[in-house]
Amino acid sequence: MCGIFGVTGSKNNAAQVVLDGLTKLEYRGYDSWGIAVKKNDGLVRERHVGKIGGATTRLPAATIGLGHTRWATHGGATEGNAHPHFDCASRLCLVHNGIVENFLELKQKLKGHDFRSETDTEVAVHLFEDLGLLKGFSQIVGMNAFILLDSQKNQLQAVKNGSPLIIGLGKDANYIASDVWALLDHTNRVIFMEDGQAATISASGVEMFDAATG
Ligand code: GLU
Repeated sequence: MCGIFGVTGSKNNAAQVVLDGLTKLEYRGYDSWGIAVKKNDGLVRERHVGKIGGATTRLPAATIGLGHTRWATHGGATEGNAHPHFDCASRLCLVHNGIVENFLELKQKLKGHDFRSETDTEVAVHLFEDLGLLKGFSQIVGMNAFILLDSQKNQLQAVKNGSPLIIGLGKDANYIASDVWALLDHTNRVIFMEDGQAATISASGVEMFDAATG
């Protein structure tokens, strides 16, 4: 069971907020972890094998970021397999809880993509690169939760089927996490996402969608 934490807000401390959120999710068990933030129109990430407790982050100041504690299912517990995973252009980055059961079949169809890890998660980010989040998600089989950060947008995109995701509505920031416990330092106003739901989370608000119809 991995942990996911994302934030978008008005303060420039996204990496630290994500690090603190992931630390709250340590109890779920994990073997590696990583964080990415949006800097200007690009993405910067750090990934590590081992414990997050006591860690500090060297990522730059940012208003939007996301992170992940990984419980490896596809590919060993290495830095290269740790999330977030990037698409070919390093425009998108993705964190994921679950298993993409049809990842091999999808990977074979994704011609010309540059795969840099052994994970099922990376197949999903290349699929989203080609099709967008919702159309890509409709082709994925399994129980999964995904959070996508597009460096061209000031929002996080989430979609889920089977794995928990909870949105936290803060005063000057909004959050998303795989456990409500990680949100309580920031807010007690939360939305439990349902299976088949998608959401966009920006500093100013949250929009919810039906994943199948948009
Ligand atoms: N299946 C993914 C991986 O192995 C996600 C595992 C998880 O939920 O932490 O990277």
